[in-house]
Amino acid sequence: MVVARTGRFAPSTTGEAHPGTLLSALLVWLDMRSRDGRVLLRLEDLDITRVKPAWSKQLVEACAFLGLDWDAVVTQSDRRAAHEAALDRLADAGRLYACTCSRARRSGGRPAATAAGGPAPPDNRRRAPDGGWAYDNTCRAQVVAEWRTAAGAIRCRLPDERVVLVDDGGLELSQTPAYEMGDPVVRRRDGVIAYQLAVVVDDADAAITDIVRGRDIAPSTATQVLLQRLLGLPTPHYRHHFLILERAEGDKLAKLHGSMPFSKLRVDYPDGAALCGKLAQLAGLRDTAAPCTPRELVADFDWARVTATDVVWR
Ligand code: GLU
Ligand code: ZN
Repeated sequence: MVVARTGRFAPSTTGEAHPGTLLSALLVWLDMRSRDGRVLLRLEDLDITRVKPAWSKQLVEACAFLGLDWDAVVTQSDRRAAHEAALDRLADAGRLYACTCSRARRSGGRPAATAAGGPAPPDNRRRAPDGGWAYDNTCRAQVVAEWRTAAGAIRCRLPDERVVLVDDGGLELSQTPAYEMGDPVVRRRDGVIAYQLAVVVDDADAAITDIVRGRDIAPSTATQVLLQRLLGLPTPHYRHHFLILERAEGDKLAKLHGSMPFSKLRVDYPDGAALCGKLAQLAGLRDTAAPCTPRELVADFDWARVTATDVVWR
């Protein structure tokens, strides 16, 4: 039996859709539709401190406006039982521990300043591949069986092994996550199930075979692969695409976010085909921004033609 390829677009519903969101949606959709695959939309709405139902609703509308269709729409917060079951399994394996570090310690274990006059403590912090600070696994001894009632954040002790991984686009993702990133938080201090755990569980339950997502998430992939191994789940194919940037403060280039929300795009672009044409041009799939539909892009879609480097939105 041939297993159908299945992809997913998994936006966090923490803000309005923007060109980067829609580019990702389009590339995920083209990747599957050009190979007769199935493709799901998963609304990642676990972070109750940041999500709004209105943004989930708008994401669905924005994708429809662009001309994308989905074989299923999954709301991540409906999947709590599966996330809890995975945490139970990790707890049974003795992998979960309570991290009671202060914020300062969490950002890499810098010792507290000594009382008046002492020499400044050495700065032992290490930068992680994602630009943040690596967590130094200080709390590993505080193993918890009852993660539901444990105070603090819950982390998962990763095996110390190196993950050797190159994505389908040739991006080198090899890492020793336990050291380079530190053990991931799997349940936050405020009770929210963390992204790293939820993404792995949900991708496996939906039998996702191919993950296409922005390059900003690439540094998390090796951590996710180790979580898959701990849970006995398969590792899908990965591909990380270019990002759309904007000139931010001090002329620095940053990932495009709030300055081009969907509510504005909808005014600037008369219809979905106009916006699709613009994204297709940015992605290197068309020479001009002439209106087109996602369907029209399927026939000659080829990753070899997709822009490799980040582009500035103009
Ligand atoms: N929800 C995550 C985000 O929007 C992406 C999840 C993923 O594609 O793995 O940044
Ligand atoms: Zn800790």
